[in-house]
Amino acid sequence: MLTDSYRHKGLRKKLVDELSKKGIFDKKVLDAINAVPRHFFMDFAIAPEIAYSDKAIPIDCKQTISQPFTVAFQTQLLELKNKDKILEIGTGSGYQTAVLCQLKSNVFTIERQHNLFIKAKTLLISMGYKPKCYFGDGYLGLQSCSPFDKILVTCGAPQIPDGLIKQLKVGGIMIIPIGEETQIMYKIVKISENELKKEALGDYKFVPMLEELEMKKS
Ligand code: SAH
Repeated sequence: MLTDSYRHKGLRKKLVDELSKKGIFDKKVLDAINAVPRHFFMDFAIAPEIAYSDKAIPIDCKQTISQPFTVAFQTQLLELKNKDKILEIGTGSGYQTAVLCQLKSNVFTIERQHNLFIKAKTLLISMGYKPKCYFGDGYLGLQSCSPFDKILVTCGAPQIPDGLIKQLKVGGIMIIPIGEETQIMYKIVKISENELKKEALGDYKFVPMLEELEMKKS
């Protein structure tokens, strides 16, 4: 049984204060981080102090649950409104997905590793969240459910995937880390059918977004 003790809650509040000091100002995002038990998304043996440190933590399949600051920063950049239809690429542990659901978005999420997909989907449902979870290659997006108001990429992409831009509504926002070894976070606004506004927002380190060929190798 997963329990959210007073100790977990206290550490989580401390983490929220730390994120606010580091520059996260959107109250709704901070409230969502405060509401989602991050330790549910990790190995149960991980100490509460580690689960609520502002660090990326390894999960299965050589992947990581993103650093809380990164989750908060990317979420804040999305400027979410109630019921926004959002596509997340890289479900991973499902933690970022839970934060998006907590913000009352209509969440579609894709993961390419089958066991992570199953694990995250099962956990999110057991917590009462209702994202639409897909197993597949997020580089291609989710054509059949498009267009989306927002797109959030949580793995490092080699370049801006054309397919994803096509699946974004005009006026929509995409947040995507771009680069090979390290990435630059980009906020991309689709101004019109063929015009993008790109803003670079600092250096980050993500696990890579794998394309089909690499997926066959791994
Ligand atoms: N949002 C996650 C972060 C997980 S790390 C969390 O909060 O835990 C990024 C994830 O992207 C990994 O699980 C990885 O398997 C996945 N990924 C990498 N390439 C992908 C692709 N082409 N399509 C879908 N998911 C991909």
